[in-house]
Amino acid sequence: MQEQKRVVIIGNGIAGITAARHIRKQSDCEILVISGESDYFFSRTALMYVYMGHMEFEHTQPYENWFWEKNRIELLKGWVRKIDFESKTLHIDEDKTLPYDTLVIATGSVPNKFGWPGQDAVGVSGLYHAQDLGYIEQHTREAKHAVVVGGGLIGVELAEMLHSRNISVTFLVRENNFWDTVMPEEEAKMINQEILDHHIDLRLETELKEITTDGEGKVTGVITSTGENIACQFVGLTVGVSPNVNWLKDSGLEINRGVLVNEYLETNKPDVYAIGDCAERRTPTEGRRPLEQVWYTGRMMGEVVARTITGDRTAYRPGIWFNSAKFFNIEYQTYGRVKPQLKSGQEQFFWQSKDQKKSLRIVFDEQTMAVLGVNVLGIRMRHEIWDQWIAAGRKINQVMAELESANFDPEFFKAYEYDIRQVFNREFEYMTVPNKKASLLKRLFA
Ligand SMILES: Cc1cc2nc3c(=O)[nH]c(=O)nc-3n(C[C@H](O)[C@H](O)[C@H](O)COP(=O)(O)OP(=O)(O)OC[C@H]3O[C@@H](n4cnc5c(N)ncnc54)[C@H](O)[C@@H]3O)c2cc1C
Repeated sequence: MQEQKRVVIIGNGIAGITAARHIRKQSDCEILVISGESDYFFSRTALMYVYMGHMEFEHTQPYENWFWEKNRIELLKGWVRKIDFESKTLHIDEDKTLPYDTLVIATGSVPNKFGWPGQDAVGVSGLYHAQDLGYIEQHTREAKHAVVVGGGLIGVELAEMLHSRNISVTFLVRENNFWDTVMPEEEAKMINQEILDHHIDLRLETELKEITTDGEGKVTGVITSTGENIACQFVGLTVGVSPNVNWLKDSGLEINRGVLVNEYLETNKPDVYAIGDCAERRTPTEGRRPLEQVWYTGRMMGEVVARTITGDRTAYRPGIWFNSAKFFNIEYQTYGRVKPQLKSGQEQFFWQSKDQKKSLRIVFDEQTMAVLGVNVLGIRMRHEIWDQWIAAGRKINQVMAELESANFDPEFFKAYEYDIRQVFNREFEYMTVPNKKASLLKRLFA
């Protein structure tokens, strides 16, 4: 265990703070976390619930304010403007410099903007930083109608937030269906319908052309790619995020879209690591992407880098991909990789409930029948079970027979396994293992 070196972490998000906590658990190093956005770590994913009145901003902070001093994690509020890797010095704000022995760059993402006329007008905002929440609060207080641009996870959250305040929303989505660059068509259409059911004016295949303003630079509306003029008092720009690395471009650090790291999360500079949203892996493990800008990968990277920094050099191996989200009332989980289109050599099973609010898609290998991935909407499933099934290459018919063990819905929720198996047995009769128990139960309760 290496002692007493000074570790500086830039960014107090999930990645940076996990690294700090785990370095402290495993060593006596001096630890300093620098961040420009907030005094304390908060949960970015909970920002929407603050706006919707479900919680106060303070409740998004998982640790009490005394936690940091007690654990000897020094916090500094400020922006790092420049890094001198030769002298191992950070330049902070206008006038401060600080040395480091080991540096962790965990600077997260920034919302994308694509140079639209009017994109910096008063009443236009992304949803990423704590400051955005204050800005949205201020500029939607009097708003009657808003336009949200960009059909991803943050866009649908922003639409839901505005809807919760009775602000009518037009939602511009460039694709044919909501998030269909990630989800297959059936699931994407279910979410289209869920959005429409919540009285959001969803405009598919429609892009932003221009944001119009009044004489004082305030938003008055948008012009869309279809030539329509939509009056509004607020515009939400949620067209994806990019690694927050622009400020590092001429520093000598190797950067592609994010800071390039090897499997140990090491950059091209000695004693400098990058983790979380801002890190791009040079050689991602199978089934994973170079950039994965989600909460749990930031946490995992923080834990892994802490081990390496405290003397136990450890490779980052995130295992099987998973993600989850909520689209209004429909929960979504995915394990493994389910692409919008099947790849050659793959087969799939798809089930949908009659009300089209629940679905299950399982992708499997045509030859071996091994399950490769699953998409589930509206039913909660157990992460560890799907993880095991996919890792072990469990065959689709075995998975079907044991489907109940993956169900994580609360007791007394309607169970769908019987219906699902019926459809599966009909479609894939040739590989079905008869499930005697289920059919017996069905007969008993028919
Ligand atoms: C509204 C919203 C909802 C989301 N919901 C989900 C979800 O449900 N599930 C999920 O998995 N993911 C979700 N995400 C994504 C997830 O929040 C991010 O992947 C995660 O927060 C990234 O963590 P990070 O530590 O890498 O970076 P960040 O959380 O961005 O933290 C980086 C910090 O570094 C600071 N910083 C940057 N540059 C400097 C500098 N030069 N000097 C000082 N400080 C600097 C930043 O201001 C920031 O505070 C959501 C994101 C948003 C915006």
